[in-house]
Amino acid sequence: MNSALSPEHSQLASDARRFAVTHFVNTEYYDLHEKFPEDIWRSAGEEGLLGSFIQKKYGGRELGYLAHTLIMEEFWRVDPGIGNILLSVFGAELLQQFGSEEQKAFWLPLLAKGKAISCCAITEPDAGSDIFNVSTLATKLENGWSLTGSKQFITNANRADLILIFAVTDQSPGAKTKAFSFFLSDRGGSGLSAQKMSGKMGIRASDTAEIRFTDRFLPGENLLGDLPGNGFAQAMSLFNINRLFACGQGVGIAQGSLDLLLQYLRENPSHASSQIIQYRVAEMATSIEASRQLYLWAGYNLDRNNADPGLIAMAKLFAGETGVRVVREAVKLAGPKAAAGGHPLSRFYRDAKIVEIYEGAKDLEKLTIARQVLTAR
Ligand SMILES: Cc1cc2nc3c(=O)[nH]c(=O)nc-3n(C[C@H](O)[C@H](O)[C@H](O)COP(=O)(O)OP(=O)(O)OC[C@H]3O[C@@H](n4cnc5c(N)ncnc54)[C@H](O)[C@@H]3O)c2cc1C
Repeated sequence: MNSALSPEHSQLASDARRFAVTHFVNTEYYDLHEKFPEDIWRSAGEEGLLGSFIQKKYGGRELGYLAHTLIMEEFWRVDPGIGNILLSVFGAELLQQFGSEEQKAFWLPLLAKGKAISCCAITEPDAGSDIFNVSTLATKLENGWSLTGSKQFITNANRADLILIFAVTDQSPGAKTKAFSFFLSDRGGSGLSAQKMSGKMGIRASDTAEIRFTDRFLPGENLLGDLPGNGFAQAMSLFNINRLFACGQGVGIAQGSLDLLLQYLRENPSHASSQIIQYRVAEMATSIEASRQLYLWAGYNLDRNNADPGLIAMAKLFAGETGVRVVREAVKLAGPKAAAGGHPLSRFYRDAKIVEIYEGAKDLEKLTIARQVLTAR
């Protein structure tokens, strides 16, 4: 049925499922205390589940971006907040594509094995959906760059060993898409401070932070790529990949919500015999499978260097909506039991919305799709 999946993909998905079911325990604790699950993250690295898209020569499994998305689905199916340990390699996609041999040889094996965490800092207080508003400035010095500016809502910025920073390197009015560059920074030295943002609605086991750069010096070799001015193109490539990963999140939370509802129905067999409930279960299962097939197709193409931004945006839009809709139905059908404190469905309900917000807000995905559809006419 899933022709996009190779035997390695299928095996990886079942390994990821087994890992999540075995290791994601005390899930409520991590949510309640907003605690990053450090031990689980390390174990996932040891089992080779963090760097599935990283090339073998850098310690990964070289199975493509679809592989990482399949793991994401299985992890989010069991617990979305803990499942975001996969974002500990956020930025490795950029590094692998555009980094120097030295940068890749140093960082990628550490990230793949769960021995270091990376983050990717693009969003700012005045720049999210519209990255042309980014104002963090990288000023050229004789022997490197000086960065000043601040970023917000950055996953793992408070704990990352490696930070990929999107900054302006050309302020001239005509620079447009050539105005930006990415830089690599470790945590050492001066001019960098980060503050965890607490009290998020959902995915509370996944850290989010503000990060500030004040005359932060970076040597010339910390630029991503040979020349400045390629950051926008690099970001566009990154968004295609990370939107695919987000599809695994939406489908995973939807599947996990259906799993929890089925468990409730097994415990309450009289409800399962209701035709109305059977209709709802059929609708949920259908939208989950449709959403999964859409991302499998988008990922299949992405892994063959045939990235289709419109298709990826459709898959992300549909996966996000499916996650939100299915968990809402599951909470409704399980009723008070789901709403009671500590029931995983109440946590899933809070976790689901983020997929419609980050990696491209839902309405922005629609604009990408519409642009492609309208120009194809
Ligand atoms: C938990 C979490 C983790 C995150 N992790 C990262 C990270 O690791 N790195 C990173 O760089 N960023 C990260 N982000 C930021 C995230 O990608 C942005 O929040 C998102 O891109 C939206 O940008 P914004 O916050 O500036 O909101 P805005 O751009 O102000 O958008 C807010 C809302 O306005 C509407 N809107 C905006 N523009 C348009 C438009 N043109 N047309 C129609 N509607 C529009 C949309 O409904 C949108 O949801 C994270 C955010 C969260 C909440």
